[in-house]
Amino acid sequence: EASEPTVVCIKDDVVEFRPAQQYWGMHTSQIEAALREDFDPDCKVISIGPAGEHELPWACLSTDQYHKAGRGGHGCLMGHKKLKAIAVRGTGRVEVGDARAFLADMRRMHSEYILTDDNLWANEEGTPILVQLMSDAGVIPTRNWSQGSFDGVQGINSEAFQKVRVRNRACYQCAIGCRQFHEVGDVRGEGPEYETIALCGANCGVGDIGALMKFNQLCDELGMDTISSGSVVGLAMDLTEKGIHDFGLHFGDIEGYLKAPELIASRTGIGADLALGARGLAAKYGHPELAMEVKNLELPGYDPRGAFGMSLAYSTSDRGGCHMRTYPIGDEVLSGNMPADSMEKKPWMVIFGDVANGFIGQNFSSIKFSLILCDFWAVTPEQIAQLLRHAWKREFSEDEVRQIGERIWNLGRLFNLREGVEPDTLPRKLVEEPFKEGPSAGKVIGWDEFQRYQQEYYKLRGWDEKGVPSEAKLAELGVDVRL
Ligand code: SF4
Repeated sequence: EASEPTVVCIKDDVVEFRPAQQYWGMHTSQIEAALREDFDPDCKVISIGPAGEHELPWACLSTDQYHKAGRGGHGCLMGHKKLKAIAVRGTGRVEVGDARAFLADMRRMHSEYILTDDNLWANEEGTPILVQLMSDAGVIPTRNWSQGSFDGVQGINSEAFQKVRVRNRACYQCAIGCRQFHEVGDVRGEGPEYETIALCGANCGVGDIGALMKFNQLCDELGMDTISSGSVVGLAMDLTEKGIHDFGLHFGDIEGYLKAPELIASRTGIGADLALGARGLAAKYGHPELAMEVKNLELPGYDPRGAFGMSLAYSTSDRGGCHMRTYPIGDEVLSGNMPADSMEKKPWMVIFGDVANGFIGQNFSSIKFSLILCDFWAVTPEQIAQLLRHAWKREFSEDEVRQIGERIWNLGRLFNLREGVEPDTLPRKLVEEPFKEGPSAGKVIGWDEFQRYQQEYYKLRGWDEKGVPSEAKLAELGVDVRL
């Protein structure tokens, strides 16, 4: 931990720790611009905004202005260490075992698996395409998870965003270019993506596209995760409307909504309470049942009452309420390959996914994301094995790829057990209380079914009934770690 605000500037193998008092308080776009001016015009910057400086639990890391490592509060950690940013400029090269074969394969994969008709949605509409689909399926969190369809969806669905789209952007060398750039009034910027639209839009009862874009921009600049922000603001609206505590926030009321991000990031006014996060806020006002979180991480944009498999995806996720580890809703709602209101075969789906249709499971996501491959690149274990063969110039089988993924997942579980991360479960409401109306009305998993299938998940994983990996499983994976 530094004794004063600091930035780390790295040029090739020279590392400097520079005082950063002049940067403290800057928004994420400001600090990036300042470091390009003061350090190197071509540097890449990872930074925190004011939310990280105030150690907000869901403060995120920001890079390339609009890109965030959103979930889990890494920005809080950097803020605690008084580290405002890391700027890097490298001029070296990355050694690749067989560079020609590697590049030839990358090009082939781009045309055969990445820039395909199946993936065109990402370029043409991006993740806002999910908004109408999820609302029609009754799974979009609405007004603090009290409904699964949003009556104001036309204001914030993909059709609405198409009308204000300015252009597309792409990450370095990506042929898809899914990053949609929008403009409404004086708000101009990339996104919002589906999760932001769901949590900061429908979950707050906001169907005004300009207000939603402004809220998203504020969160981006302040450096705070939009899923948790929308979840907490929606909860405060619910507490107000139920007469439990008046935060001056109401579903669909834009004025208070747009003031909330600044107040939360600076922990002032109502922001001091909201900065407790969903669990802390609901507990403080005596209603823990209103907090929609798992392992103290606010849930993303899919209600398991309309997609039962998401219950296990959330409960068993290593970092809590997260949709990026596995995506059973892909088969439950998007492809319709599996019934959404049944737990049958879902433990298997959660672990192994449906890679052929682009929906990954926990094992495969573990290796795919460790390789920093984009979620939208629908590659298979076989293709990853091929790339690794060229990168390291050695034999590499598809089975080895699968086993590495499984090993990563098991190591994550061991880490959580050692650190005392709480058991796998879900908010009571999502298991017990069916919706009264809408496409998923009357459907609920129930505790018996949930527990039965969670036990089946543990069994498939080779874990005991408490979710602890067995000695045999660890030996099979070559993991020599004992708790
Ligand atoms: S790498 Fe992924 S996020 Fe970036 S433009 Fe391509 S598809 Fe979109």
